[in-house]
Amino acid sequence: MKRGLFGGSFDPVHLGHLRCAEEIRELFGLDQILFIPAARQPLKTEQQPVGFHHRAVMARLAVEGNPAFVVSERENRRDGPSYSIDTVNEFLREQSPGDRLYFIMGRDAFMDITRWKDWRNLMSRCDIVVMTRPGTGAADAGDSPPPEIASEYSYDDEEQCFRGERGGNLYFRRLTLLDISATDIRNRLAVGRSIRYLVPETVAAYIKANGLYTASRRR
Ligand code: ATP
Repeated sequence: MKRGLFGGSFDPVHLGHLRCAEEIRELFGLDQILFIPAARQPLKTEQQPVGFHHRAVMARLAVEGNPAFVVSERENRRDGPSYSIDTVNEFLREQSPGDRLYFIMGRDAFMDITRWKDWRNLMSRCDIVVMTRPGTGAADAGDSPPPEIASEYSYDDEEQCFRGERGGNLYFRRLTLLDISATDIRNRLAVGRSIRYLVPETVAAYIKANGLYTASRRR
């Protein structure tokens, strides 16, 4: 079983997330991608997300009809900040021999990885896939391991990835660039603008029905 773990605030989930996940699924031949909404994002403290329940329901609506996409609410079952290393360790404990884990993130998230809890361990315990994202610099800029550990990695031309000597491959992949962000969607909603074609219709309907992201109702 080849599994992709795709964590995020998903506040709300949008077509940028879905399309990128689909391209990664196809590129790596993944059997499943788990969308894992963060219950308590340790690094995004300036922005209070809408409640976990709403974000998880929207994620479930978004993946409906795609058997390879699944939503995992496991980060809401733990107390305290939602650290990715804890999530990865849980999956590693539960998986069968021969299973493989790919941790998927956008380039903006990767640029911050050295601030993550136990980031070195995270990078050595599973493969990391970094996806291009508009607004994060030139095509290949920063497509290398963090300088702190660069000496532990060597480039594998055949596999087109950096191989870590402690384990864990680091892949950088160029995807269709979709300049969609949850911040932009929230900003549009706050001033009553349309978000059609930025999120699945079911998600837009859920946001409307629950009055989410309007200036008067934040959560
Ligand atoms: P916000 O604008 O609130 O910061 P976001 O749009 O970045 O939200 P997140 O839920 O924080 O969405 O993103 C989850 C993961 O998906 C992150 O690793 C992020 O880099 C990646 N991601 C989000 N949108 C895109 C996109 N349009 N293209 C590529 N990667 C993306």
